[in-house]
Amino acid sequence: MRLSEEQLSEMIALAKKAQANAYCPHSKHPVGSSIMAEGGSIYAGCNVETANYKGICAEGSAISAMIYNGDTVINTVVVIGPTEHLCTPCGDCRQRIREFATAKTEVIVVDCNGENKKEYLLDELLPDSFGPENLNL
Ligand SMILES: [Zn+2]
Repeated sequence: MRLSEEQLSEMIALAKKAQANAYCPHSKHPVGSSIMAEGGSIYAGCNVETANYKGICAEGSAISAMIYNGDTVINTVVVIGPTEHLCTPCGDCRQRIREFATAKTEVIVVDCNGENKKEYLLDELLPDSFGPENLNL
């Protein structure tokens, strides 16, 4: 499902709000993410670091919020990083998103100003991926 401009603006605003609360004293690289689940509910998350350098990324936080609230299918992911360099999801997050993705799941990355966005289908970021169906569930 393609987002309307209004929906995308709302998702960017929620990702920015989450980014403002990022806990990243070690990397000083605050990231925010928002996820629209199938059905239209939106969840947001920020990166949360720990002193042993094993934190959770913003996308993972947003996925946790989604799962907590009972949704399991991702329609769209928005990611916003702290600079004008686009902050695409890391490898771990691509796999996390994949767990709850469909062939139409989109990942939209915006710069620190919420502009200069780049849109991907998840399959472009993680081609020929391994997912739940590979386990013959
Ligand atoms: Zn990540």
